Amino acid sequence: MNYIVLDLEWNQSSKPEGTIPGMPFEIVEIGAVKLGSDRSMISEFSRLVKPQVYTTMHQITGRLIHLQMQQLQSGDPFPVVYADFKEWCGDEPFFCTWGPLDLTELQRNMRYFELSPMAGGPIAFLDVQKLFSIAYDIKERRNLEYAIDYLNIEKDIPFHRAFSDAYYTARILEQLPTDVLGRCSYDVFHLPRDKEHEIHTVFDDYFKYISRPFRERERALTDREVMSTKCYLCGKPTRRYVKWFTTNSRFYQCVTECDQHGLMKSKVRLRKAENGDTYVVKTQKFIDKKTADSLKYKREHTLHEGVLRS
Ligand SMILES: [Zn+2]
Repeated sequence: MNYIVLDLEWNQSSKPEGTIPGMPFEIVEIGAVKLGSDRSMISEFSRLVKPQVYTTMHQITGRLIHLQMQQLQSGDPFPVVYADFKEWCGDEPFFCTWGPLDLTELQRNMRYFELSPMAGGPIAFLDVQKLFSIAYDIKERRNLEYAIDYLNIEKDIPFHRAFSDAYYTARILEQLPTDVLGRCSYDVFHLPRDKEHEIHTVFDDYFKYISRPFRERERALTDREVMSTKCYLCGKPTRRYVKWFTTNSRFYQCVTECDQHGLMKSKVRLRKAENGDTYVVKTQKFIDKKTADSLKYKREHTLHEGVLRS
């Protein structure tokens, strides 16, 4: 397994009315660094993409990424660059990006150019920006330059080109403590196509589930798997402690108790897919009695109570 640290630059329409549906951002540069399983750098990828969709440079984008339309003319069309990139990645690439956006935009561009998808469902990846925050207990997402300064990494090449940002992200990844590397994220550009392909992942101190899409949110909220509160450690049924409730109808919470593992909070978040379908991200974690009782209090005092099951 190799880590592929990826960074993309993209352009957009100069006028809002010129935006092509389903293709708001056109990739103009792909930069990447390949790291071995020991996180040492193995090889580099850097290519310009010749625009086919937005052929004038958006003012702010152009300033931000230091690229001129004229330079991009020396690039190859996206399908050619992507084919080379895919070959360079090799088998079983494990993608790493700064922030959560790049894999989504990559797949959106692939769809526009009618290339076959990288995966039939969600893609596990490392969001290095998130891992940096976790590793150094930083409360919010910081930019790449902040992280570089924080870790005293030498700024030996300029920022805001795809390759340099991938390179700096790789330098940060190299230094992260090993214990945060298990905290993968999922890109959900392609949702799980059926129940069988849904995501169930046990992390160190919590569990994450990503559902297949549902046409209506009501269907999602009555699905057995979505609302299941069986213990994620032993798989046994749990007893109700605080019934399902919501304060804002964007997420639902409950607390149940496993005889062996104690009090477990379940949280169901409703998300909208691009086509309007609803899917669910459920997280579960074990909590102490004090936290459970404060949720019980919150439920009893909430006005917009939405009890799903008795
Ligand atoms: Zn249990």
